[in-house]
Amino acid sequence: MYTKILEANDESVGICAEMLRNGDIVAFPTETVYGLGANALDGEAAQKIFEAKGRPATNPLIIHVADKSQIDEVAYVDEMSKKLIDALMPGPLTLVLRKKSCVPDIVTAGNATVAVRMPDHPVALKLIKAAGVPVCAPSANTSSRPSPTMAMHVYDDLCGKIPVILDGGKCPFGMESTVLDMTTRPPRVVRAGSIELKQIENVIGPVGKETVISDSLSMLKEPTRYVPKAELAFSAYYDNMCSVISSYYDRQKSLGRKPVIFCLKPNANKYGDRRTVIMGETIVDYARLLFEKLREAEKCNYDLVIAEGVPMGGIGTALLSRLMKLSHGNVI
Ligand code: AMP
Ligand code: MG
Repeated sequence: MYTKILEANDESVGICAEMLRNGDIVAFPTETVYGLGANALDGEAAQKIFEAKGRPATNPLIIHVADKSQIDEVAYVDEMSKKLIDALMPGPLTLVLRKKSCVPDIVTAGNATVAVRMPDHPVALKLIKAAGVPVCAPSANTSSRPSPTMAMHVYDDLCGKIPVILDGGKCPFGMESTVLDMTTRPPRVVRAGSIELKQIENVIGPVGKETVISDSLSMLKEPTRYVPKAELAFSAYYDNMCSVISSYYDRQKSLGRKPVIFCLKPNANKYGDRRTVIMGETIVDYARLLFEKLREAEKCNYDLVIAEGVPMGGIGTALLSRLMKLSHGNVI
């Protein structure tokens, strides 16, 4: 299959909307990462997403909508969820709700619940609106690769497997949505992400969160088909983290490896002349750049990325859960 990259404009969005209506799959930008979308009400179309990504059928998809009222088409919305929808959508928050029967089982991996969100990105909103149907879309990467934050990342993974990529530039958040299960009381964060816990708790009060890291640990037990070109290790966050990372770097280099350190700018001068990639000034920058810099490191033929840890809490929790998952728990 030939894979086209189309710059996002009114014409290309119209073409892609038509493709979605006809049961095809389309990669498109959102404010979090690129998604690989299909008509969420068409099980055969959704099946194509699982095939292209090599995604296990047990991993459900998130349904994307273009306006808040469209959520009622696919899910039952309770009062507490309504408050969150009013306050935080559109935005990088996904709610897990009880599903309506129009949603095919393949989309929810057979669950009685469905995950829904309204992306805050003009191209995504225009596309879903023009398609006239809710759009199920996981991240547009090969399963277990870093999520794509640029059209070229989608191309690198899925060239020949999908017909089209809508190019809307870099994704502003660069990290997936926060997933909140609203079918339990209190609601529970099942994936930390771009919306911080305190933003949610400001609207609905305390939510369960203690399992976010243990959930990513449980994912480690799943078999992974993909073997990364650059191994990832990361450090826990503590006072002498930079010297521990430096010693690890030196040891690995002496074994003939080609390591690189991912660090925040304020720490950069602590690594002497070791190779570093600066992940911005703040943890928010680091989270936004993680996937992009991992892919760049592979292209530069580094065979080991040693990433700095960050404190738990806020966006740091989301970042740590990604480091945990992508490194398969390789903590130094
Ligand atoms: P992705 O779009 O690739 O970032 O993955 C979607 C993620 O959303 C899944 O890995 C789950 O964490 C979450 N999710 C989707 N549907 C459900 C559901 N019905 N129940 C719980 N979590 C879900
Ligand atoms: Mg994903």
